Amino acid sequence: MLRRELGQLKKDKAIKIIDDKEQRWIIDLNHKISRQIVNLAVQEEVGTIIMEDLENIRDTAESLNRADRNLDSCFFYQLQQFIEDKAELAGIKVEYINPQYTSKSCSRCARVKKSNRKANLYSCECCNHIHADLNVSRNIANKYLEQQFA
Ligand SMILES: [Zn+2]
Repeated sequence: MLRRELGQLKKDKAIKIIDDKEQRWIIDLNHKISRQIVNLAVQEEVGTIIMEDLENIRDTAESLNRADRNLDSCFFYQLQQFIEDKAELAGIKVEYINPQYTSKSCSRCARVKKSNRKANLYSCECCNHIHADLNVSRNIANKYLEQQFA
């Protein structure tokens, strides 16, 4: 075997080890995050956890910054699976909603305006100035409630 080929082989092996380590790190992180979410839900006596249906992730992905967008959607899918598993064991229901417009809509007045969201802040003309993630969370809850009572 040529020295060059051997070098490449070592490099490939090194990359694989990093990939496996990263993979384990992500699985471990997802277990920790899902554990915290379900523990909080139990503590707050939450009956249903509502999440965005990842098959409709495009609208969500658009609103995330570049670093977030680079995260593989597998990461989110796995996290949701872990949340589902732990929630089921805790007797908590899990439901999904279509995530369309959840990041662009105002959770107070329902106006849809992409420019209302600037980085971590959502600011609407109706004086709703809140953290963008909280705005999304409220929209998810509102959507679910609308579906329930439609
Ligand atoms: Zn508003």
